[in-house]
Amino acid sequence: MGRRKRRTTLPVRKRRKSAFFRCPVCQHNSIMVELHEKEGKAVIKCFNCGLVEEIEMKPGETKVDVYTRFFDSYIERAEGA
Ligand SMILES: [Zn+2]
Repeated sequence: MGRRKRRTTLPVRKRRKSAFFRCPVCQHNSIMVELHEKEGKAVIKCFNCGLVEEIEMKPGETKVDVYTRFFDSYIERAEGA
């Protein structure tokens, strides 16, 4: 009875803006990045405006790296049109 829950929860630093990134299209913090390391690609999705982008990723890249690259290339495309 009363099985002691052995929870080794590491104190993950919780940020209010969770795992979402800012969307360059709709300006909401509603971007989610999925990494598919095996396939060498990442998928970027926005829950708010429905944007979906697939970009290459290099091994070892984090979501932040991928997102930053996506964001930069998006801005470049948007400006250099
Ligand atoms: Zn969006």
